[in-house]
Amino acid sequence: MQSNLYATQKNLPQPTVVVATHNTHKVEEIQAILSPHLPGVQFVSARELDAPEAKENGTTFVENSVIKAEAVAKICGEVTIADDSGLEVEALHGAPGIFSARWAGKHGDDVANRELLLAQLQDCEPEQRKARFACAAVAIAPIGDAVAVTEYMDGHIITEERGQGGFGYDPIFVVGGETRTNAELTADEKDSISHRGKAFRALAPYVAKMLGVTYVP
Ligand code: IMP
Repeated sequence: MQSNLYATQKNLPQPTVVVATHNTHKVEEIQAILSPHLPGVQFVSARELDAPEAKENGTTFVENSVIKAEAVAKICGEVTIADDSGLEVEALHGAPGIFSARWAGKHGDDVANRELLLAQLQDCEPEQRKARFACAAVAIAPIGDAVAVTEYMDGHIITEERGQGGFGYDPIFVVGGETRTNAELTADEKDSISHRGKAFRALAPYVAKMLGVTYVP
Protein backbone atom coordinates (compact mmCIF):
# COMPACT_ATOMS: atom_id res chain seq x y z
CA MET A 1 0.00 0.00 0.00
CA GLN A 2 1.26 3.50 -0.88
CA SER A 3 0.85 4.70 2.71
CA ASN A 4 3.15 2.11 4.23
CA LEU A 5 5.68 2.38 1.41
CA TYR A 6 5.92 6.15 1.86
CA ALA A 7 6.13 5.83 5.65
CA THR A 8 8.95 3.30 5.29
CA GLN A 9 10.83 5.39 2.73
CA LYS A 10 10.58 8.47 4.90
CA ASN A 11 11.10 6.58 8.18
CA LEU A 12 7.82 7.89 9.49
CA PRO A 13 6.84 6.61 12.93
CA GLN A 14 3.27 5.33 13.19
CA PRO A 15 0.69 6.62 13.91
CA THR A 16 1.55 9.84 12.10
CA VAL A 17 -0.49 12.83 11.00
CA VAL A 18 0.89 15.07 8.27
CA VAL A 19 0.20 18.78 8.69
CA ALA A 20 -0.08 20.29 5.20
CA THR A 21 1.86 23.49 5.77
CA HIS A 22 5.43 24.78 5.56
CA ASN A 23 4.73 27.20 8.42
CA THR A 24 6.59 25.91 11.50
CA HIS A 25 4.63 28.18 13.86
CA LYS A 26 1.37 26.67 12.58
CA VAL A 27 2.57 23.07 13.00
CA GLU A 28 3.59 23.78 16.61
CA GLU A 29 0.26 25.45 17.35
CA ILE A 30 -1.79 22.61 15.82
CA GLN A 31 0.35 19.98 17.57
CA ALA A 32 -0.15 21.73 20.93
CA ILE A 33 -3.92 21.78 20.37
CA LEU A 34 -4.27 18.16 19.20
CA SER A 35 -1.63 16.26 21.21
CA PRO A 36 -3.62 16.07 24.49
CA HIS A 37 -6.50 14.46 22.57
CA LEU A 38 -4.37 12.11 20.43
CA PRO A 39 -1.65 10.74 22.76
CA GLY A 40 1.18 8.92 21.00
CA VAL A 41 0.44 10.44 17.60
CA GLN A 42 3.38 12.05 15.78
CA PHE A 43 2.96 15.23 13.76
CA VAL A 44 5.15 15.97 10.73
CA SER A 45 4.93 18.94 8.41
CA ALA A 46 4.73 19.00 4.62
CA ARG A 47 8.09 20.80 4.71
CA GLU A 48 9.76 17.88 6.55
CA LEU A 49 8.43 15.53 3.84
CA ASP A 50 9.52 17.79 0.95
CA ALA A 51 5.86 17.92 -0.10
CA PRO A 52 5.06 21.13 -2.02
CA GLU A 53 2.52 23.65 -0.73
CA ALA A 54 -0.52 23.93 -2.99
CA LYS A 55 -1.68 27.21 -4.53
CA GLU A 56 -4.56 28.58 -2.43
CA ASN A 57 -6.90 29.43 -5.29
CA GLY A 58 -10.22 28.47 -3.68
CA THR A 59 -12.98 30.97 -2.92
CA THR A 60 -13.75 29.92 0.68
CA PHE A 61 -11.75 28.89 3.77
CA VAL A 62 -13.06 25.32 3.44
CA GLU A 63 -12.11 25.07 -0.25
CA ASN A 64 -8.60 26.34 0.45
CA SER A 65 -8.07 23.97 3.39
CA VAL A 66 -9.19 21.01 1.25
CA ILE A 67 -6.88 22.10 -1.61
CA LYS A 68 -3.92 22.22 0.83
CA ALA A 69 -4.68 18.87 2.47
CA GLU A 70 -5.48 16.99 -0.76
CA ALA A 71 -2.26 18.05 -2.47
CA VAL A 72 -0.16 16.62 0.37
CA ALA A 73 -2.34 13.55 1.10
CA LYS A 74 -2.07 12.52 -2.57
CA ILE A 75 1.72 12.47 -2.33
CA CYS A 76 2.27 10.91 1.09
CA GLY A 77 -0.78 8.65 1.51
CA GLU A 78 -1.02 9.42 5.24
CA VAL A 79 -3.84 10.98 7.27
CA THR A 80 -3.36 14.67 6.45
CA ILE A 81 -4.73 17.76 8.14
CA ALA A 82 -4.75 21.39 7.02
CA ASP A 83 -6.41 24.65 7.84
CA ASP A 84 -7.22 27.93 6.20
CA SER A 85 -7.97 30.92 8.33
CA GLY A 86 -8.42 34.65 8.21
CA LEU A 87 -10.02 37.77 9.60
CA GLU A 88 -13.49 38.97 8.63
CA VAL A 89 -14.28 42.64 9.40
CA GLU A 90 -17.93 43.69 9.46
CA ALA A 91 -17.35 47.22 8.11
CA LEU A 92 -15.43 45.71 5.18
CA HIS A 93 -18.22 43.23 4.42
CA GLY A 94 -16.14 40.24 5.52
CA ALA A 95 -12.78 41.32 4.04
CA PRO A 96 -9.87 40.63 4.23
CA GLY A 97 -11.29 37.04 4.57
CA ILE A 98 -9.41 34.54 2.40
CA PHE A 99 -7.02 37.37 1.40
CA SER A 100 -5.93 38.01 5.03
CA ALA A 101 -2.35 36.81 4.58
CA ARG A 102 -1.75 39.09 1.57
CA TRP A 103 -4.13 42.00 2.26
CA ALA A 104 -1.45 44.66 1.67
CA GLY A 105 -0.10 42.87 -1.40
CA LYS A 106 2.80 40.74 -0.21
CA HIS A 107 2.02 37.31 1.26
CA GLY A 108 2.80 37.13 4.98
CA ASP A 109 3.66 40.83 5.49
CA ASP A 110 1.86 41.06 8.85
CA VAL A 111 3.01 44.61 9.64
CA ALA A 112 1.81 46.02 6.31
CA ASN A 113 -1.46 44.07 6.56
CA ARG A 114 -2.22 45.55 10.01
CA GLU A 115 -1.28 49.08 8.93
CA LEU A 116 -3.56 48.90 5.90
CA LEU A 117 -6.48 47.54 7.94
CA LEU A 118 -6.11 50.24 10.62
CA ALA A 119 -6.05 52.91 7.90
CA GLN A 120 -9.16 51.47 6.27
CA LEU A 121 -11.03 51.55 9.60
CA GLN A 122 -9.77 54.92 10.83
CA ASP A 123 -13.14 56.68 10.42
CA CYS A 124 -15.17 53.79 11.85
CA GLU A 125 -17.00 54.15 15.16
CA PRO A 126 -16.35 51.46 17.81
CA GLU A 127 -19.59 49.61 16.96
CA GLN A 128 -18.44 49.36 13.32
CA ARG A 129 -15.19 47.67 14.25
CA LYS A 130 -16.69 44.22 14.89
CA ALA A 131 -14.58 41.41 13.45
CA ARG A 132 -14.05 37.70 13.74
CA PHE A 133 -11.34 35.21 12.98
CA ALA A 134 -12.45 32.12 11.05
CA CYS A 135 -10.68 28.79 10.72
CA ALA A 136 -11.62 25.87 8.49
CA ALA A 137 -9.80 22.71 9.61
CA VAL A 138 -9.86 19.59 7.47
CA ALA A 139 -8.70 15.98 7.84
CA ILE A 140 -8.30 13.64 4.88
CA ALA A 141 -7.73 9.89 5.18
CA PRO A 142 -5.82 7.94 2.50
CA ILE A 143 -8.92 5.88 1.75
CA GLY A 144 -10.79 9.04 0.83
CA ASP A 145 -12.72 10.02 3.97
CA ALA A 146 -12.70 13.79 4.58
CA VAL A 147 -14.08 15.93 7.40
CA ALA A 148 -14.10 19.74 7.55
CA VAL A 149 -15.02 21.97 10.51
CA THR A 150 -15.26 25.79 10.60
CA GLU A 151 -15.03 27.74 13.86
CA TYR A 152 -14.88 31.43 14.79
CA MET A 153 -13.46 33.85 17.37
CA ASP A 154 -15.62 36.98 17.70
CA GLY A 155 -14.28 40.37 18.77
CA HIS A 156 -13.32 43.79 17.47
CA ILE A 157 -10.43 45.74 15.94
CA ILE A 158 -8.82 48.39 18.16
CA THR A 159 -7.13 51.59 16.91
CA GLU A 160 -3.49 50.93 17.92
CA GLU A 161 -1.32 47.85 18.20
CA ARG A 162 -0.75 46.30 21.65
CA GLY A 163 1.24 43.20 22.70
CA GLN A 164 4.17 41.13 21.50
CA GLY A 165 2.71 37.62 21.22
CA GLY A 166 0.80 35.82 18.48
CA PHE A 167 1.10 36.75 14.82
CA GLY A 168 -0.86 38.32 11.97
CA TYR A 169 -3.66 40.60 13.19
CA ASP A 170 -3.33 39.57 16.88
CA PRO A 171 -1.96 42.95 18.12
CA ILE A 172 -5.08 44.79 16.87
CA PHE A 173 -7.76 42.20 17.76
CA VAL A 174 -9.60 41.95 21.10
CA VAL A 175 -11.85 38.92 21.62
CA GLY A 176 -15.32 39.45 23.17
CA GLY A 177 -15.21 39.64 26.97
CA GLU A 178 -11.48 40.56 27.03
CA THR A 179 -9.64 43.86 27.29
CA ARG A 180 -6.27 42.43 26.23
CA THR A 181 -5.42 41.96 22.56
CA ASN A 182 -4.73 38.44 21.30
CA ALA A 183 -1.06 39.43 21.27
CA GLU A 184 -1.26 40.00 25.05
CA LEU A 185 -2.78 36.57 25.79
CA THR A 186 -0.56 33.56 26.54
CA ALA A 187 -0.43 30.89 23.83
CA ASP A 188 -2.55 28.58 26.03
CA GLU A 189 -5.12 31.30 26.74
CA LYS A 190 -5.43 32.01 23.01
CA ASP A 191 -5.63 28.31 21.99
CA SER A 192 -8.42 27.68 24.50
CA ILE A 193 -10.74 30.21 22.81
CA SER A 194 -9.33 30.68 19.32
CA HIS A 195 -10.96 29.81 16.00
CA ARG A 196 -8.05 27.39 15.31
CA GLY A 197 -8.20 25.80 18.77
CA LYS A 198 -11.94 25.21 18.54
CA ALA A 199 -11.80 23.90 14.95
CA PHE A 200 -8.99 21.39 15.58
CA ARG A 201 -10.45 20.20 18.89
CA ALA A 202 -13.71 19.49 17.01
CA LEU A 203 -11.71 17.62 14.35
CA ALA A 204 -9.71 15.52 16.85
CA PRO A 205 -12.22 12.62 17.27
CA TYR A 206 -12.43 12.21 13.48
CA VAL A 207 -8.62 12.18 13.15
CA ALA A 208 -8.46 9.52 15.90
CA LYS A 209 -10.97 7.39 13.98
CA MET A 210 -9.03 7.75 10.71
CA LEU A 211 -5.82 6.69 12.48
CA GLY A 212 -7.49 3.94 14.53
CA VAL A 213 -6.17 5.40 17.80
CA THR A 214 -7.84 6.34 21.08
CA TYR A 215 -9.41 9.79 21.33
CA VAL A 216 -9.03 11.46 24.72
CA PRO A 217 -11.82 14.05 25.27
P1 IMP B 1 -3.40 30.95 6.40
O1 IMP B 1 -4.50 30.28 7.18
O2 IMP B 1 -2.07 30.37 6.70
O3 IMP B 1 -3.71 31.03 4.93
O4 IMP B 1 -3.23 32.45 6.90
C1 IMP B 1 -4.29 33.29 7.14
C2 IMP B 1 -3.91 34.69 7.58
O5 IMP B 1 -4.97 35.12 8.43
C3 IMP B 1 -2.64 34.83 8.43
O6 IMP B 1 -1.52 35.15 7.64
C4 IMP B 1 -3.00 36.00 9.35
O7 IMP B 1 -2.79 37.21 8.69
C5 IMP B 1 -4.49 35.82 9.54
N1 IMP B 1 -4.77 34.99 10.75
C6 IMP B 1 -5.30 33.76 10.81
N2 IMP B 1 -5.40 33.31 12.08
C7 IMP B 1 -4.89 34.31 12.84
C8 IMP B 1 -4.68 34.44 14.25
O8 IMP B 1 -4.96 33.55 15.06
N3 IMP B 1 -4.15 35.59 14.65
C9 IMP B 1 -3.82 36.61 13.80
N4 IMP B 1 -3.95 36.53 12.49
C10 IMP B 1 -4.51 35.38 12.00
